[in-house]
Amino acid sequence: MTTTIIGYPRIGSHRELKFAVQKYFKKEISAEELAQTAADLRKQNWDTISGAGIDQLVSNDFSYYDTTLDTANLLNIVPKRYKDLNLSSLDEYFAQARGYQGDKGDVTALSMKKWFNTNYHYLVPEFDDDTDVKLVGTKIFDEYQEAKDQGYQTRPVVLGPYSLLRLSAFEGNRQDTDFTSALVSAYEGIFEKLADLGADWIQLDEPQLVKDQSEADLELFTDLYKPLLSNKHGLKVLAQTYFGDVRDSYDLLTSLDFDGLGLDFHEGDESLNLIESKGFPEDKVLYAGVINGKNIWKANYDQRLDLLHKLPKTNIVLSTSCSLLHVPYTLENEPQLDEKYKKYLAFAKEKLTELTDLDHILGGSGDDALKANEALFAKPRYEENQAIIDKVASLKESDFHREPSFEERAAIQKKEFDLPELPTTTIGSFPQTREVRRNRAKYKRGEITKEQYDQFNRDKIKECVEFQEKIGLDVLVHGEYERNDMVEYFGEKLDGFLFTSNAWVQSYGTRGVKPPIIWGDVNRTAPITVAESVYAQSLTDKPVKGMLTGPVTILNWSFPREDISKKESTLQIALAIQAEALDLEKNGIKIIQIDEPALREKLPLRKSDWYSRYLDWAIPAFRLVGSKVQPTTQIHTHMCYSEFGDIIDAIDAMDADVISFEASRADLTLLDTLQKTHFKTHVGPGVYDIHSPRIPSEDEVAGTIHKILKKVPLQNVWINPDCGLKTRGTTETTASLENVVAATQQVRKELAHEGR
Ligand code: GLN
Ligand code: ZN
Repeated sequence: MTTTIIGYPRIGSHRELKFAVQKYFKKEISAEELAQTAADLRKQNWDTISGAGIDQLVSNDFSYYDTTLDTANLLNIVPKRYKDLNLSSLDEYFAQARGYQGDKGDVTALSMKKWFNTNYHYLVPEFDDDTDVKLVGTKIFDEYQEAKDQGYQTRPVVLGPYSLLRLSAFEGNRQDTDFTSALVSAYEGIFEKLADLGADWIQLDEPQLVKDQSEADLELFTDLYKPLLSNKHGLKVLAQTYFGDVRDSYDLLTSLDFDGLGLDFHEGDESLNLIESKGFPEDKVLYAGVINGKNIWKANYDQRLDLLHKLPKTNIVLSTSCSLLHVPYTLENEPQLDEKYKKYLAFAKEKLTELTDLDHILGGSGDDALKANEALFAKPRYEENQAIIDKVASLKESDFHREPSFEERAAIQKKEFDLPELPTTTIGSFPQTREVRRNRAKYKRGEITKEQYDQFNRDKIKECVEFQEKIGLDVLVHGEYERNDMVEYFGEKLDGFLFTSNAWVQSYGTRGVKPPIIWGDVNRTAPITVAESVYAQSLTDKPVKGMLTGPVTILNWSFPREDISKKESTLQIALAIQAEALDLEKNGIKIIQIDEPALREKLPLRKSDWYSRYLDWAIPAFRLVGSKVQPTTQIHTHMCYSEFGDIIDAIDAMDADVISFEASRADLTLLDTLQKTHFKTHVGPGVYDIHSPRIPSEDEVAGTIHKILKKVPLQNVWINPDCGLKTRGTTETTASLENVVAATQQVRKELAHEGR
């Protein structure tokens, strides 16, 4: 059999690309030096992948920032405002990625969205009425040739025209279908040139197909591919899908003249079923995604072999379920992680070996590898925590419901807190200044004691509380100085999590995340946040919010277990956070915020799965955390990103007392939804965008408050920024919050005047 992968991480095993690109931004290195780093990284990848024994390599999976942006630029889909800057093509590319402010002009970046159900973000290509789609770039050809010069025949990868259209924004009058013929010509141009250079295969990524497809979708797909595949210039074309199955388009895909189909056998629930029930065409090659490209667990070879025995025996290539971009480089960079853990894990490089192992086993020469793998899976991986397992198993329906009802609680809490109309608050974190980060770094390096570290944070808390009192906020926070990351902070204090040193995964451009690994049963053995919250509360008569990360977010921003369901893992985490909430309450904290910024993120790609596969357990898991507190204790939550319209009922069903949203960037369109659905939860739709250093004026904020009051009943409205302030500087934060408080006071006066 043959082995391949869909793509490989590109940031460098020690994030060399990130650092080089950032240096280039700061003009510390030249474009040539950056290009050299990039070429070195590509070479390392090809050498590694080939060295591991993978048969078919890919090229053009590299990117300085994002491959969707690369594809748009290859095809001249570059809005005029960037072209008008007259920059070098590299700088024009980065201007689209991150905006440009300089002597040539001032433009914001293209918008950025989550890549399907991952934590990777892509830049949204923009089509307008001036867009002239044509093949203008050379990156795909250059990188193919570069590999060839090193002796590697590769399969160039590019985003397919259908997914490109579906992922793009259309700003003018012309719509997707107006661009089909130009796209067909441009892709045909790619085929022709690659064939000339000596390529034999091309991989067109069409992940969009794993979402629900309408008739119109399939028609567009056909209109693009029928003509394109009638003129392949001798190239073989692989349609590569991932993150799900192609149940709506399987018949179409098998009937079109593709030479290969790439299917995901991990997240594609129906992939095997489709092949077994409909058969797989003999004239096509099946690229079987059998090794999980998204998670970090070692594959169970027996299970994989069972699957492979059900697939066609010939014309099959063993592959990963998606690009390895979504996992870290290699376990070799984790020397501090005990072998007892590592032997169960596989990062990108180790997954290459899994592919070749399977290949050898099927070819009859992999007995040792199979035996070792069977031995590993024969023994329990970790020690179960029976008490936790029992606790989850014995949860009753009533554990997920808070008594009394929302309305009764609202009345009780109105008396309890006696807050002014339009109460003001913040989302939790205050600026993590250099000194805050330095204090943590010093502590981690052992240069200061735990006492010194804590004392510094206490001083910051004091300063923060005094500041909030001074400017007149109503509900205060402690500032979250003790946290580097809202998931890691809780994970480190709970049993059941593993942490890595270098296991970075690209989130967007130069930004990476280092998700913890949920290793075993999650258990809380000691209070986590109580000391900081109690200290902050001791400094003021105003309520200080306790600040917890919600269970769904902790799960979604970690590498999850696969031996138990996500639901079960999340419920374990929810019980741990519930215990923390009860401890906060016992220690006099009267308002508790349970953040769920990542709840929206893992919504299944198919609408029919939204509730049955996700919301039906995710929302109750959140409710479990707050279900046991007194009616006088107020539960807040916070969510980022504004695309809530279609799940707004599920959010109301979280049954929090108050929710704050990130809403300011989406022009407050969320407000219409809140109004239409008679959203019951009291709500703080962010009144300014904290992602920009811009300071909103008092009048601007007052205007926003009035807009909110047009749609949401006055007694339901809270006033707050739209997210945590940790990435902001102190100066703009002070000025912005002062304006928020002043604007609120101004509106309150106007309301009093009107007698409301
Ligand atoms: N409480 C967190 C903070 O303020 C919330 C972060 C988030 O929404 N991502 O930082
Ligand atoms: Zn947020």
